[in-house]
Amino acid sequence: MPERLFGTNGVRGVINEDMTSDLALQMGKAIGIAMGGTVAIATDTRVSADMIKAAVSSGIMSAGADVLDLGVLPTPALQYYVRTHSNVNGGVMITASHNPPQFNGIKCISPDGTEASREEEEEIEAQYAKEIPCAPWNEIGDMGRIKGAGEEYIDAIISKVDSESIRKAGLKVCLDCANGAAYETAPLLLKKLNVRAITINCNPQGEFPGHPSEPTEENLKDLISLTEATESDLGIAHDGDADRCVFISNDGKYVSGDKSLALMSRYALSKKKGSIVTPVSSSSLVEEIVNGAGGSIDYTAVGSPIVARRMIETGAVFGGEENGGLIFPEHQYCRDGGLAIAKMLECIVKDGPLKSQISDFPVYYTMKKKIECPHSMKKNVLDHLAGESAGARMDNTDGMKILFDDGWVLVRPSGTEPVFRIFSESKDEAAAKERAEKYETLVKEYLDQGFS
Ligand code: MG
Repeated sequence: MPERLFGTNGVRGVINEDMTSDLALQMGKAIGIAMGGTVAIATDTRVSADMIKAAVSSGIMSAGADVLDLGVLPTPALQYYVRTHSNVNGGVMITASHNPPQFNGIKCISPDGTEASREEEEEIEAQYAKEIPCAPWNEIGDMGRIKGAGEEYIDAIISKVDSESIRKAGLKVCLDCANGAAYETAPLLLKKLNVRAITINCNPQGEFPGHPSEPTEENLKDLISLTEATESDLGIAHDGDADRCVFISNDGKYVSGDKSLALMSRYALSKKKGSIVTPVSSSSLVEEIVNGAGGSIDYTAVGSPIVARRMIETGAVFGGEENGGLIFPEHQYCRDGGLAIAKMLECIVKDGPLKSQISDFPVYYTMKKKIECPHSMKKNVLDHLAGESAGARMDNTDGMKILFDDGWVLVRPSGTEPVFRIFSESKDEAAAKERAEKYETLVKEYLDQGFS
């Protein structure tokens, strides 16, 4: 067993290789002991969903806790259910988000609907490592099945936006769910908001996501051309478990997660001033737009649970990540793909077409690099780089971010993989490229020396 079971997004692996029914059963037992009471469980649409759900559920019940099976749901819909039902002690989401169909994963949800904290995960890991005793025959848990959790989530979303104005606007959108968890809820949300939806990849075909379910520009070519050809007001794409959402503008252009984060930040600040929380890896575009809108930016380490927890601590007005993960504190402290759709619709109805709203955004160029590096060498690499960069302006929130007048470079060790990631951003394309290459060379040369 790995000493650390949970990665940054729960436990993930390839089905019947490192994500097996044996592992899921033992995880279920550990979760049953750690959470106790009643545990709500939901899945995305992967072909392995039932196998992993059955094993986890069996483990939970054998440890003496009850299971509530909510069926196929977006991750934020399960999170909403856990928070709003006081008889539920926690949640388990069976999903591997944007990973390919042969993967699956187990993600734990706290009683308040947030992603499990590291301390809660450690408790489950500690149980997992033990021989867990089974409950006596007359104390084992039972399993209930709940229908309608998706609609509860949709109705809560609708109550958080100006639904009357959206209904009257007569909008038309194209929707791509990557054949994933939102295949039912996202079309229902649009129907209830009187938005005409032209859908693609909205069938629960776990083996055939239609395209890789990370919502990148490359993977969304069909949605982009459909949005343009149908002259729709908006294109919408979810990742596999629909906690994230990216958009296509009304002229058929892919809108990066940084841009939608900046736009939604400005929209939130138009209603209430305060701080916006985002990881240090987000584009300076966000900071520039936030400052211009009278707000302040609050940077955290990378990871949506870290962003959510900082938002809770500081009472931030909004937060999110550059990958399309948006967190609306008026609803719940987690990435919420459903509310992201509804808020973007409201923003378009109030402030005009998406294309014109982002036309004044400054242009930044980004370069990304990935370098293999064993976990044991990560600290040495950072120390070496700190020495090489003495005197530079620096931010050490997560890895090392070196600040320049026109941009920055972030050199960051991955929390889970044996790699360093380098992000370089500048208003000058050549400078972004040159700095990414400079730091890539510095890390590589140091590693080569260390092993020679
Ligand atoms: Mg996801």
